[in-house]
Amino acid sequence: MLSLPKLLLLALVLYIVWTVWRTVQRRDARRREMAASAGRSATSDRSGRTAVAAEEMVKCPGCGVYVAADARKCGTPGCPRR
Ligand SMILES: [Zn+2]
Repeated sequence: MLSLPKLLLLALVLYIVWTVWRTVQRRDARRREMAASAGRSATSDRSGRTAVAAEEMVKCPGCGVYVAADARKCGTPGCPRR
């Protein structure tokens, strides 16, 4: 039969084990989160560059230089459409 002090000691030991386990889990989760966010930012950077690279370009009728389709002006020095 377990006595009250032994039960209290068991509860204390279980509490300590649980606290240590929770701390380790939290640290692991934070490390995983940081790794995931680092990977995510790298992916978004890459996709952002891809979006810029895939921007629709149109040939300027004034000078023949390809400019962004949504650009109002050509911007090329000496272009009549400037
Ligand atoms: Zn032009």
